[in-house]
Amino acid sequence: MNVAQWLAASARLHPDAPALLRGTAVQADYATFARRAAAIGAGLRRDFGIRPGDRVALFMTNCTQYLECLYAVWWIGAVVIPINAKLHGREAAWICDNAGATLAFVDEDGRQALVAVTEDLPPSMPMLSVDSADYQTLQRDDGGTPAPSPREDDDLAWLFYTSGTTGRPKGVMLSHGNLVAASLCYLADVDAVSQQDAILYAAPISHGAGLYNFIHVRMAARHVVPPSRGFDADEVLTLARQLDHVSMFAAPTMVRRLVDAAKRRKERGEGIRTIVYGGGPMYLADIRDAMATMGQRFVQIYGQGESPMTITSLRREFHADSDHPRYLERLASVGPAQSVMQVRVTGADGRSLPTGETGEVEASGPAVMLGYWNNPNANAETLKDGWLRTGDVGRLDQDGFLTLSDRSKDVIISGGTNIYPREVEEALLAHPDVREVSAIGVPDPEWGEIVVACVVLEQGAAANDAALDAHCLDAIARFKRPKRYVYLEALPKNNYGKVLKTELRAMMRA
Ligand code: AMP
Repeated sequence: MNVAQWLAASARLHPDAPALLRGTAVQADYATFARRAAAIGAGLRRDFGIRPGDRVALFMTNCTQYLECLYAVWWIGAVVIPINAKLHGREAAWICDNAGATLAFVDEDGRQALVAVTEDLPPSMPMLSVDSADYQTLQRDDGGTPAPSPREDDDLAWLFYTSGTTGRPKGVMLSHGNLVAASLCYLADVDAVSQQDAILYAAPISHGAGLYNFIHVRMAARHVVPPSRGFDADEVLTLARQLDHVSMFAAPTMVRRLVDAAKRRKERGEGIRTIVYGGGPMYLADIRDAMATMGQRFVQIYGQGESPMTITSLRREFHADSDHPRYLERLASVGPAQSVMQVRVTGADGRSLPTGETGEVEASGPAVMLGYWNNPNANAETLKDGWLRTGDVGRLDQDGFLTLSDRSKDVIISGGTNIYPREVEEALLAHPDVREVSAIGVPDPEWGEIVVACVVLEQGAAANDAALDAHCLDAIARFKRPKRYVYLEALPKNNYGKVLKTELRAMMRA
């Protein structure tokens, strides 16, 4: 089926329900949202010759038009390429070219960034600015709301380029079936959704947060873009009080900032129903602090672009069940497989490892991508006999809870022994002077690699290798202790807030 059918159905069943909001201001109800999507879609076909299967890029910061454009493209059976708005124009142009984009929806910033690199864009690719009069004309067109074009489950819907910390990004092909499967898992494995709810897009719609739109469209909930169009902790806390029943996706760094703001404001996140966190490691010390400050509002997911938001989840009840004998182990895990998925851990020979042993995490199920766009080599490396090799290292416990250690390329091999940076990071983060930390391996003639801890201190704290070393001695095996501490003002992060270990390693080599 075509995911746009979910919008068509909500428009029929709940035409007057508020759909698109900027802050607290309603900009469209469901009938209007669907009519606009159908009208813009018709315009794409009529004025730009877009056909089913054609790729249409979206290069813009979060806005309510973002959702209109997504559904306009699907309405006519075409494919979206959501591009991270923080990319350089040249990088965005490379993606448009690689994907053979036939049109790009842009905002003013996106337009300027692409105009500056016209020579890199696919020849004669038109741009349509959502801030333009042309867009408003399309949006206002009232040709009724014809049914969305039929699509098969395996038809491509969402072509998303990985953040690519090394090499060129790869285009992850997600089908309508993938998106539906992942969205139904939200209900089964993350949270219930009703028309009362408001999904707040404080993280980029181009990435994971945007994938949560589907189930909220299906349930005719509110879609809220904050006026800042991004993440501002104070704005989120204020909006949540006004909107009530708010759910949002937040990367772990965003959760930390929300918790800091809640503490400062002496609030508990009133109005927030659920914060779904994931996309990077959440340290035990941080989630405990978050729950102590904001209460039971948290659900964790583990996924990757290649199986979007949908590999495992750690539901609310596992955050709350503090009487369970393995409570803390579970809290430090990413939970069991989501309903449509299977997870296994394999050794170097590709065979499943017994419970408790650490190896590469593999996932299979209907959320797993069709493959990478025009990239048979990457497909052969990543997809094996129906299993997605995630590149993450982890272990499963007897109840199926998965604990991630690290990306396989981040594992440190010192004196022939594997050291998982996450363990070192968890230990150091429990020290009151440490605000953030990333442990990396740095080449060493004697050990092969040594552990170097890149530490961001809490305000007012002073660098003190001896104190941190003594703290590690209490928490982890002697050989895992960092051999060096480096104090930084901030950790380098990509546009999604993920720590760039490659950059840290390069800094250390230099
Ligand atoms: P991306 O494809 O950009 O979404 O990145 C996916 C990667 O982020 C995964 O392969 C993991 O390495 C990491 N990741 C995602 N969710 C979690 C999580 N809950 N805990 C730890 N790492 C995560």
